[in-house]
Amino acid sequence: MYQIIDGKKISQEIKDELREKVEALKARGVKVTLAVIQVGDDPASSVYVGNKEKACAYVGIGSLVYRLPRETTQEELLQLVGQLNRDDQVDGILVQLPLPGHIDEDKVLLAIDPQKDVDGFHPVNVGNLSIGRPGFVSCTPAGIIQLLKRSGIQIEGKECVVLGRSNIVGKPMAMLLLRENGTVTVCHSRTKNLKEIARRADILVAAIGKPCFVDADYVKEGAVVIDVGIHRKADNKLCGDVDFKSVAPRTSAITPVPGGVGPMTIAMLMYNCVEKKLAIL
Ligand code: NAP
Repeated sequence: MYQIIDGKKISQEIKDELREKVEALKARGVKVTLAVIQVGDDPASSVYVGNKEKACAYVGIGSLVYRLPRETTQEELLQLVGQLNRDDQVDGILVQLPLPGHIDEDKVLLAIDPQKDVDGFHPVNVGNLSIGRPGFVSCTPAGIIQLLKRSGIQIEGKECVVLGRSNIVGKPMAMLLLRENGTVTVCHSRTKNLKEIARRADILVAAIGKPCFVDADYVKEGAVVIDVGIHRKADNKLCGDVDFKSVAPRTSAITPVPGGVGPMTIAMLMYNCVEKKLAIL
């Protein structure tokens, strides 16, 4: 029988631990504040920003939410980022993606002070991760490491295969698994023999953005499968990159969608805000 890795429960544990740390900081007169910027009113982004606001309130972190009109210019957005960079009361800055087409995302992400880049997207933080120095780590892959560790799954010495090489999931995931002493293979859309490579994995992370793509043929008996994908099907139900029904019985442990990786992303955003404050005190 396989283990279902419960991201809801583990993310709640993390938020509760952080809440205690934030309370202890408050008792010392120290506050933690996250600034979140949304440009435009993309419905999915509005939900994500609302969820971040709720998580901040739960953990006890102050949130400054800037909801800017779609017509905001790149210059105006860069000015706001600059102002938040200089504001000593602000510990973390997050710009909700995607941005409207007339704004250069890279330019905006580069403008965020790496010391406040709680999303871990700035090249300085990406570089720190790749050479093993401390810094902010992208929240979704950092959350996956927590899911594995807190479920008692050992990474060291394991054959890890990451499907996907995006800057926010696949690549940092590979670096983190390597940091935990896994043996890591990264696959992408030009990879040949994808099934054979995936079937080598003791730990298989699927982050390709294709609904139910990974079926039982991609999975070795007894593997741990982490499903990063999130898609809404025609019947309005959510599914991941993994065909849970056929894959789960072959695994020793698997994350469901919803309730697996998804809830971890915001918990790790909170973690990044709080741990940064603790590190500089
Ligand atoms: P992305 O930027 O679209 O990257 C997808 C990656 O998968 C690319 O590297 C691509 O290869 C690779 N790929 C696509 N088709 C493939 C195929 N047939 N075989 C092998 N590799 C293939 O996506 P992402 O941002 O990493 O996100 C991946 C999924 O995770 C999405 O469903 C997204 O919604 C979800 N997600 C969830 C969370 C969460 O909090 N749960 C957070 C972030 C993302 P190339 O590089 O060659 O194009």
